Amino acid sequence: MVRNLCPVGDDHEHDHDHDVLEEGKIPVPDHVLAAVRTLLEWSGDDPQREGLLDTPKRVARAWKEYCSGYEMDPGLHLSRTFEEVGGYDEVVLLKNIPFQSHCEHHLAPITGTASIAYLPNERVVGISKLARVLNGFAQRLQVQERLTAEVAQCIQDHLHPRGVAVVIEAQHGCMTGRGVRTHGVNMVTSRMLGVFLDDPRSRREVLSLMGRP
Ligand SMILES: [Zn+2]
Repeated sequence: MVRNLCPVGDDHEHDHDHDVLEEGKIPVPDHVLAAVRTLLEWSGDDPQREGLLDTPKRVARAWKEYCSGYEMDPGLHLSRTFEEVGGYDEVVLLKNIPFQSHCEHHLAPITGTASIAYLPNERVVGISKLARVLNGFAQRLQVQERLTAEVAQCIQDHLHPRGVAVVIEAQHGCMTGRGVRTHGVNMVTSRMLGVFLDDPRSRREVLSLMGRP
């Protein structure tokens, strides 16, 4: 199913006719709509003005998408592995994967990139699966430290590799858009497991591959 994530105009035609069955869209309970209206009012606006009438419904559905990771087990993406790797026993690295998440303290966006590496122990996965694992955890309310740790641990638990390295660099909307309003400041977190934790040479090597000497 293809869903339109565009913040404006995607469903104007239908939304003004509330009796039309909204095909393919999840129903939004009244108490959820009321909660968003309360927040709009609290923010200082009038939830009854025309431009905001359908906002509660859109916001509710958008949050279901932002948090769609709660409905999946990211580890399932790692259940199909390949043993035939032609003797390859070096680092597998997926670099600078873009992602979006939301911080659990302010519900503000976290946008950044992740580099995920592992040193296979006979079994490898399709490379896109690493990005799917990342997204499964990112599409939940997060703190960056936990996101980093969860991605690494998931790969460790399912692939049992000789090492896992995850480095995430992100900007936090709660820092850039409020409070100290610090633009252009990136937070970097990393989680090393196995040889990347125990062996400084392996760690230096993987960090250098990630472009982080
Ligand atoms: Zn925050």
